[in-house]
Amino acid sequence: MEDAEITLILQKSLSGKVLTTAEIEALLSIKEQSSLEQLFEAAQTVKNNNFNNKVFLYGFVYFSTHCRNNCSFCFYRKSNTDSVRYRKSDEEILELSTSLEDSGVHAVDLTMGEDPIIHNDTHYQKLIDIVTMVNDAVKVPLMVSPGAIPQQLFPTLKEAGADWFACYQETHNIELFQRLRPAQDYEFRLNQKKWARENDILTEEGIMVGVGENVHDRAHSIEVMRSLGVDQVRAMSFVPQNNTPMFSNGPSPFIDELKAIAVMRLVHPQKLIPASLDVEGVAGLKTRLAAGANVITSIIPPCKGLAGVAQHELDIDDGGRSVEQIEAILDEINIKKADKNDYINLVNERKKQPLAEGSL
Ligand code: SF4
Repeated sequence: MEDAEITLILQKSLSGKVLTTAEIEALLSIKEQSSLEQLFEAAQTVKNNNFNNKVFLYGFVYFSTHCRNNCSFCFYRKSNTDSVRYRKSDEEILELSTSLEDSGVHAVDLTMGEDPIIHNDTHYQKLIDIVTMVNDAVKVPLMVSPGAIPQQLFPTLKEAGADWFACYQETHNIELFQRLRPAQDYEFRLNQKKWARENDILTEEGIMVGVGENVHDRAHSIEVMRSLGVDQVRAMSFVPQNNTPMFSNGPSPFIDELKAIAVMRLVHPQKLIPASLDVEGVAGLKTRLAAGANVITSIIPPCKGLAGVAQHELDIDDGGRSVEQIEAILDEINIKKADKNDYINLVNERKKQPLAEGSL
C-alpha cells in the first residue's frame, strides 16, 4: 500500500475513529520504512496522550516450571526432557516477591506452568495459599498467571488478593490454537478472561507472533482482544525452543512484533501494553517502547535461580533485567518510571469500569 494511503488510515485512527479489519491488516502489512516510521510515530502520540511519558515495571516470579501440558512452542512442555524444572518454596517466593517490591516494581507477576501438583487439587489450595501469602507481604498489585483454572475458583482467587489474571490464547484462529496447545479447550481458555473480569480481577490477553498465523489472523486477534474488554494486551515474538516440535520453524522477525505492538496501541489506546524483556532481553527494550508499549515485563532479580519463559537465561544473572538497569536505559531515552500510586490508582479505576457492551 502507498505511503499516502497509510497516512489516511493513521489520520483516521488518530481522530478516534474505529479502524476496519482491512485497515488493521494494511498497517500490519507495512513494509516501506517511511510508512513504518509514520506508524510508530502515531503509536507514540497515542501512548503519550494517554499515559504521558511514563512506564510501569512488572517483576516476574516464575515459581514453578512444571507443567502437565504439551504446547508445541514451549520450552517447559511436559515432554521436554531438556527443560529446567524447579518449584520454589514458600520462603523463596516470599523473598523474591518482597525483594522485587523493594527494588521498585509496580506489580508482581506470580507465574507457573500448569503444575500437576497444583492443578490436580480441585481446590487449588496451594495456589490460593501462595497468592494469600504474597498479598499479605507486599503492597503492590499482584498479577497471577497460573494457566487455565476452573470457573468456581475465581472468587477465591480474588479474595486471596489477585488484582490481575493473565492467560494468553496466543492466537484466535481455533485451528491454529489446537496445533499450538494440543488437547486444550479454546473456549475454556478464552472464558478465563471473562470469569476473572466478572470477579473484578483485571485481565491480560496475548498473542504470539510467528507461530504460523497470517496477517489476517493477527488483525482478528487484535479485534477479538478489543471485544474481550481485557485491560492489558501483549504481542510477543515466537522464539524457537530446543527439543520442541516447533524448533525448526525458525525465529519470527522482530519487526512483526513491533508492528503488532504499534497497531495494538492504536486499536487499544487506553490499555496497558507490555514490552517484554523475554524476547530480546534489554537490547529490545527501546524499540518496543518506541512502538507504543508502556509496561516493562519480565523483570527478574539476578542470581536467584529464576527462569524466563521464552528466553530462560538471557540477561538474568548479569542483572540486566533488574529495575536498576532498566531505569538506566529509561534515562537514556528520557522516559520516566511512573509513581507507584499512579499505578495503584490506574488499577483501581480500571476495576470500576464496567465490561464494554459486547464483551464475552
Ligand atoms: S505454554 Fe504454559 S501451559 Fe503450555 S506447556 Fe508451556 S508452561 Fe505449560
